[in-house]
Amino acid sequence: MSKDARLGTDAPARPSPSEASAATPKERKKTIPQSKRKGYNPLAPERVAEILKRLDQLYPAVTCALTHASAWELVVATILSAQSTDVNVNKVTPELFRKYPTVQAFAALTPEQLEPDVRSTGFFRNKSRSVVGAAKRIVAEFGGQVPDDIEKLLTLPGVARKTANVVLGTWFKKAVGVVVDTHVHRISRRLELTANDDPQKIERDLMRIIPRDRWILFSHQIIWHGRGLCIARKPKCADCALENICHAGDKTWSTVEIHKNAKA
Ligand code: SF4
Repeated sequence: MSKDARLGTDAPARPSPSEASAATPKERKKTIPQSKRKGYNPLAPERVAEILKRLDQLYPAVTCALTHASAWELVVATILSAQSTDVNVNKVTPELFRKYPTVQAFAALTPEQLEPDVRSTGFFRNKSRSVVGAAKRIVAEFGGQVPDDIEKLLTLPGVARKTANVVLGTWFKKAVGVVVDTHVHRISRRLELTANDDPQKIERDLMRIIPRDRWILFSHQIIWHGRGLCIARKPKCADCALENICHAGDKTWSTVEIHKNAKA
Protein backbone atom coordinates (compact mmCIF):
# COMPACT_ATOMS: atom_id res chain seq x y z
CA MET A 1 0.00 0.00 0.00
CA SER A 2 1.38 3.40 -0.88
CA LYS A 3 2.19 6.01 1.74
CA ASP A 4 -0.26 8.36 0.01
CA ALA A 5 -3.09 5.85 0.34
CA ARG A 6 -2.36 5.29 4.03
CA LEU A 7 -2.42 9.02 4.63
CA GLY A 8 -5.62 9.44 2.64
CA THR A 9 -4.33 11.54 -0.21
CA ASP A 10 -5.80 10.78 -3.61
CA ALA A 11 -2.73 9.31 -5.25
CA PRO A 12 -3.71 5.99 -6.90
CA ALA A 13 -3.09 2.93 -4.74
CA ARG A 14 -2.60 -0.62 -5.97
CA PRO A 15 -5.27 -3.02 -4.62
CA SER A 16 -4.09 -5.68 -2.20
CA PRO A 17 -4.37 -9.30 -3.42
CA SER A 18 -7.48 -9.84 -1.29
CA GLU A 19 -9.14 -6.70 -2.65
CA ALA A 20 -8.35 -7.80 -6.19
CA SER A 21 -9.99 -11.22 -5.82
CA ALA A 22 -13.60 -12.37 -6.12
CA ALA A 23 -15.79 -9.23 -6.21
CA THR A 24 -16.03 -7.09 -9.33
CA PRO A 25 -15.05 -3.41 -9.03
CA LYS A 26 -18.76 -2.45 -9.15
CA GLU A 27 -19.61 -4.88 -6.34
CA ARG A 28 -16.68 -3.68 -4.26
CA LYS A 29 -17.84 -0.08 -4.62
CA LYS A 30 -21.20 -1.06 -3.15
CA THR A 31 -19.86 -3.02 -0.21
CA ILE A 32 -16.66 -1.29 0.81
CA PRO A 33 -17.31 1.89 2.81
CA GLN A 34 -16.03 4.98 1.07
CA SER A 35 -13.43 5.63 3.74
CA LYS A 36 -11.94 2.12 3.30
CA ARG A 37 -11.57 2.35 -0.47
CA LYS A 38 -8.11 2.59 -1.99
CA GLY A 39 -6.71 1.09 1.24
CA TYR A 40 -7.51 4.32 3.10
CA ASN A 41 -8.03 3.93 6.83
CA PRO A 42 -8.51 7.24 8.66
CA LEU A 43 -7.18 5.66 11.85
CA ALA A 44 -4.03 4.18 10.30
CA PRO A 45 -1.08 4.85 12.64
CA GLU A 46 0.81 6.51 9.75
CA ARG A 47 -2.03 8.97 9.18
CA VAL A 48 -2.46 9.76 12.88
CA ALA A 49 1.32 10.25 13.19
CA GLU A 50 1.26 12.60 10.19
CA ILE A 51 -1.56 14.65 11.74
CA LEU A 52 0.43 14.93 15.00
CA LYS A 53 3.59 15.89 13.10
CA ARG A 54 1.83 18.65 11.21
CA LEU A 55 0.16 19.93 14.39
CA ASP A 56 3.63 20.10 15.98
CA GLN A 57 4.87 22.18 13.07
CA LEU A 58 1.85 24.49 13.24
CA TYR A 59 1.60 24.82 17.02
CA PRO A 60 4.95 23.84 18.57
CA ALA A 61 4.47 25.28 22.07
CA VAL A 62 0.85 26.02 22.82
CA THR A 63 -0.92 25.72 26.12
CA CYS A 64 -4.20 26.65 27.77
CA ALA A 65 -5.28 30.21 26.91
CA LEU A 66 -7.20 30.75 30.16
CA THR A 67 -5.38 33.17 32.48
CA HIS A 68 -4.63 31.51 35.82
CA ALA A 69 -1.96 31.41 38.51
CA SER A 70 -3.08 28.38 40.53
CA ALA A 71 -5.01 25.14 40.15
CA TRP A 72 -8.02 26.76 41.82
CA GLU A 73 -7.98 29.71 39.42
CA LEU A 74 -7.87 27.26 36.52
CA VAL A 75 -10.88 25.39 37.94
CA VAL A 76 -12.81 28.67 38.13
CA ALA A 77 -11.74 29.85 34.65
CA THR A 78 -12.62 26.49 33.07
CA ILE A 79 -16.06 26.43 34.70
CA LEU A 80 -16.67 29.99 33.44
CA SER A 81 -15.51 29.09 29.91
CA ALA A 82 -18.49 26.79 29.25
CA GLN A 83 -20.55 28.26 26.39
CA SER A 84 -18.23 31.26 26.39
CA THR A 85 -14.84 32.15 24.90
CA ASP A 86 -11.46 32.22 26.62
CA VAL A 87 -11.16 35.89 25.63
CA ASN A 88 -14.40 36.68 27.46
CA VAL A 89 -13.37 34.73 30.53
CA ASN A 90 -9.95 36.42 30.60
CA LYS A 91 -11.69 39.80 30.74
CA VAL A 92 -13.51 38.77 33.92
CA THR A 93 -11.02 36.70 35.91
CA PRO A 94 -8.24 39.22 36.74
CA GLU A 95 -10.66 41.39 38.73
CA LEU A 96 -12.43 38.31 40.11
CA PHE A 97 -9.20 36.83 41.48
CA ARG A 98 -8.15 40.21 42.87
CA LYS A 99 -11.47 40.52 44.70
CA TYR A 100 -11.47 36.90 45.95
CA PRO A 101 -7.82 35.84 46.12
CA THR A 102 -8.22 32.39 47.68
CA VAL A 103 -10.47 29.36 47.46
CA GLN A 104 -11.54 30.16 51.04
CA ALA A 105 -12.73 33.60 49.90
CA PHE A 106 -14.92 31.96 47.24
CA ALA A 107 -16.16 29.38 49.76
CA ALA A 108 -17.38 32.18 52.03
CA LEU A 109 -19.72 33.53 49.30
CA THR A 110 -23.26 32.67 48.39
CA PRO A 111 -23.85 31.99 44.68
CA GLU A 112 -25.96 35.15 44.52
CA GLN A 113 -23.03 37.26 45.74
CA LEU A 114 -20.83 35.94 42.93
CA GLU A 115 -23.36 36.33 40.12
CA PRO A 116 -22.67 40.00 39.22
CA ASP A 117 -18.94 39.26 38.84
CA VAL A 118 -19.42 36.43 36.31
CA ARG A 119 -22.57 37.63 34.58
CA SER A 120 -20.85 38.53 31.30
CA THR A 121 -19.67 34.93 30.74
CA GLY A 122 -23.27 33.72 30.33
CA PHE A 123 -25.22 31.09 32.27
CA PHE A 124 -24.05 33.03 35.31
CA ARG A 125 -26.49 31.53 37.84
CA ASN A 126 -25.36 27.97 37.15
CA LYS A 127 -21.72 29.00 36.98
CA SER A 128 -21.93 30.89 40.29
CA ARG A 129 -23.52 27.84 41.92
CA SER A 130 -20.77 25.59 40.53
CA VAL A 131 -17.85 27.84 41.52
CA VAL A 132 -19.09 28.48 45.06
CA GLY A 133 -20.08 24.82 45.48
CA ALA A 134 -16.67 23.63 44.26
CA ALA A 135 -14.89 26.08 46.60
CA LYS A 136 -16.92 24.92 49.61
CA ARG A 137 -16.17 21.27 48.84
CA ILE A 138 -12.45 21.87 48.29
CA VAL A 139 -12.23 23.67 51.63
CA ALA A 140 -14.38 21.14 53.51
CA GLU A 141 -13.13 17.89 51.96
CA PHE A 142 -9.69 18.52 50.50
CA GLY A 143 -8.03 20.90 52.97
CA GLY A 144 -8.31 23.86 50.60
CA GLN A 145 -6.19 22.12 47.92
CA VAL A 146 -7.49 21.22 44.46
CA PRO A 147 -7.08 17.44 44.24
CA ASP A 148 -4.85 16.04 41.46
CA ASP A 149 -7.03 12.95 41.16
CA ILE A 150 -9.75 12.64 38.54
CA GLU A 151 -12.18 10.75 40.76
CA LYS A 152 -11.97 13.47 43.41
CA LEU A 153 -12.16 16.28 40.88
CA LEU A 154 -15.32 14.77 39.44
CA THR A 155 -17.02 15.09 42.85
CA LEU A 156 -16.79 18.90 42.62
CA PRO A 157 -20.00 20.67 41.55
CA GLY A 158 -19.77 21.85 37.93
CA VAL A 159 -16.70 19.72 37.17
CA ALA A 160 -17.10 17.08 34.47
CA ARG A 161 -14.38 15.25 32.53
CA LYS A 162 -13.52 18.23 30.34
CA THR A 163 -12.75 20.53 33.27
CA ALA A 164 -11.00 17.74 35.18
CA ASN A 165 -8.78 16.96 32.18
CA VAL A 166 -7.94 20.64 31.68
CA VAL A 167 -6.86 21.00 35.31
CA LEU A 168 -4.98 17.69 35.45
CA GLY A 169 -3.22 18.22 32.11
CA THR A 170 -2.46 21.93 32.23
CA TRP A 171 -1.73 22.45 35.93
CA PHE A 172 -0.65 19.05 37.22
CA LYS A 173 0.85 17.83 33.91
CA LYS A 174 -1.01 14.54 34.33
CA ALA A 175 -2.27 12.86 31.17
CA VAL A 176 -5.36 11.11 32.49
CA GLY A 177 -7.58 11.76 29.48
CA VAL A 178 -8.05 13.99 26.46
CA VAL A 179 -9.86 17.32 26.77
CA VAL A 180 -12.92 17.23 24.50
CA ASP A 181 -14.33 20.70 24.11
CA THR A 182 -16.29 22.05 21.17
CA HIS A 183 -13.14 22.43 19.00
CA VAL A 184 -11.81 18.93 19.72
CA HIS A 185 -15.29 17.54 19.10
CA ARG A 186 -15.66 19.25 15.72
CA ILE A 187 -12.15 18.72 14.38
CA SER A 188 -11.84 15.09 15.51
CA ARG A 189 -14.94 14.38 13.44
CA ARG A 190 -13.72 16.38 10.46
CA LEU A 191 -10.43 14.47 10.52
CA GLU A 192 -12.32 11.15 10.90
CA LEU A 193 -10.56 10.35 14.17
CA THR A 194 -13.99 9.56 15.57
CA ALA A 195 -17.51 9.05 14.25
CA ASN A 196 -19.05 9.69 17.66
CA ASP A 197 -20.92 12.73 18.90
CA ASP A 198 -20.85 12.04 22.61
CA PRO A 199 -17.82 13.72 24.27
CA GLN A 200 -17.02 10.70 26.44
CA LYS A 201 -17.03 8.38 23.43
CA ILE A 202 -14.91 10.86 21.45
CA GLU A 203 -12.42 10.98 24.33
CA ARG A 204 -12.30 7.18 24.44
CA ASP A 205 -11.68 7.03 20.66
CA LEU A 206 -8.88 9.60 20.86
CA MET A 207 -7.25 7.86 23.83
CA ARG A 208 -7.09 4.67 21.73
CA ILE A 209 -5.29 6.18 18.74
CA ILE A 210 -3.17 9.00 20.19
CA PRO A 211 -0.08 8.12 22.24
CA ARG A 212 -0.57 8.99 25.90
CA ASP A 213 2.41 11.34 25.96
CA ARG A 214 0.60 13.46 23.35
CA TRP A 215 -2.82 13.69 25.02
CA ILE A 216 -2.22 17.05 26.72
CA LEU A 217 -0.51 18.81 23.82
CA PHE A 218 -2.89 17.36 21.21
CA SER A 219 -5.92 18.98 22.89
CA HIS A 220 -4.19 22.36 23.12
CA GLN A 221 -3.07 22.17 19.48
CA ILE A 222 -6.53 21.21 18.22
CA ILE A 223 -8.14 23.98 20.28
CA TRP A 224 -5.75 26.54 18.75
CA HIS A 225 -6.42 25.09 15.28
CA GLY A 226 -10.15 25.39 15.91
CA ARG A 227 -9.88 29.01 16.94
CA GLY A 228 -7.71 30.12 14.03
CA LEU A 229 -8.33 27.94 10.96
CA CYS A 230 -10.69 25.04 11.44
CA ILE A 231 -13.50 27.28 12.63
CA ALA A 232 -17.05 26.00 12.93
CA ARG A 233 -18.47 27.79 9.90
CA LYS A 234 -16.45 28.05 6.72
CA PRO A 235 -13.15 26.54 7.87
CA LYS A 236 -10.14 28.11 6.17
CA CYS A 237 -9.11 24.95 4.34
CA ALA A 238 -7.06 26.73 1.64
CA ASP A 239 -4.71 27.93 4.41
CA CYS A 240 -4.63 24.65 6.36
CA ALA A 241 -1.50 22.50 6.52
CA LEU A 242 -3.65 19.40 7.08
CA GLU A 243 -5.66 19.97 3.92
CA ASN A 244 -4.38 17.11 1.75
CA ILE A 245 -5.03 14.53 4.46
CA CYS A 246 -8.43 15.93 5.49
CA HIS A 247 -11.61 14.68 3.82
CA ALA A 248 -14.20 16.60 5.85
CA GLY A 249 -17.62 16.84 4.27
CA ASP A 250 -17.84 20.59 4.97
CA LYS A 251 -14.43 21.61 3.62
CA THR A 252 -14.41 24.93 1.80
CA TRP A 253 -11.58 23.98 -0.54
CA SER A 254 -10.14 20.58 -1.35
CA THR A 255 -7.47 18.79 -3.34
CA VAL A 256 -8.65 15.33 -2.20
CA GLU A 257 -11.80 13.26 -2.22
CA ILE A 258 -14.46 14.54 0.19
CA HIS A 259 -16.05 11.98 2.52
CA LYS A 260 -19.64 12.88 3.24
CA ASN A 261 -19.49 11.08 6.59
CA ALA A 262 -16.55 13.15 7.81
CA LYS A 263 -18.73 15.92 9.16
CA ALA A 264 -18.11 18.33 11.99
S1 SF4 B 1 -8.69 21.15 5.76
FE1 SF4 B 1 -10.37 22.46 6.51
S2 SF4 B 1 -11.78 21.08 7.61
FE2 SF4 B 1 -9.81 20.00 7.36
S3 SF4 B 1 -8.65 20.40 9.24
FE3 SF4 B 1 -8.06 21.97 7.75
S4 SF4 B 1 -9.43 23.72 8.11
FE4 SF4 B 1 -10.34 21.91 9.12
